[in-house]
Amino acid sequence: MHEMAIAEGVLDIALDYAKKEKAARIAEIGLKIGEMSGVVTDSLLFSFDMLAKGTMAEGAKITVHSVPLVGRCTKCGKEFPIEHYDFWCPECENGVLETISGREMQVEYLEVE
Ligand SMILES: [Zn+2]
Repeated sequence: MHEMAIAEGVLDIALDYAKKEKAARIAEIGLKIGEMSGVVTDSLLFSFDMLAKGTMAEGAKITVHSVPLVGRCTKCGKEFPIEHYDFWCPECENGVLETISGREMQVEYLEVE
């Protein structure tokens, strides 16, 4: 259930922001979730709904942007989308891809009213 901990973190960020902006409620929360972050979006939304009850974030719309897994070759420097967990560079013979995106889980934007 690490989605619960993530939802708590997101809620904390949103409530802090709303307080700073002297907002009445949180309208929307944009999240960036990497394909490889291991976060289950449905569980995250479910946890968030539960935690947000009775707070300024109750009823907030959550928009999730999924970030594809992209790697950069450690040898030739080219960037490729990583598919089927294939971490070998398709361009050169023995390059290995290091991930440059796809593992993130972050709050992208907040809209308050
Ligand atoms: Zn390469």
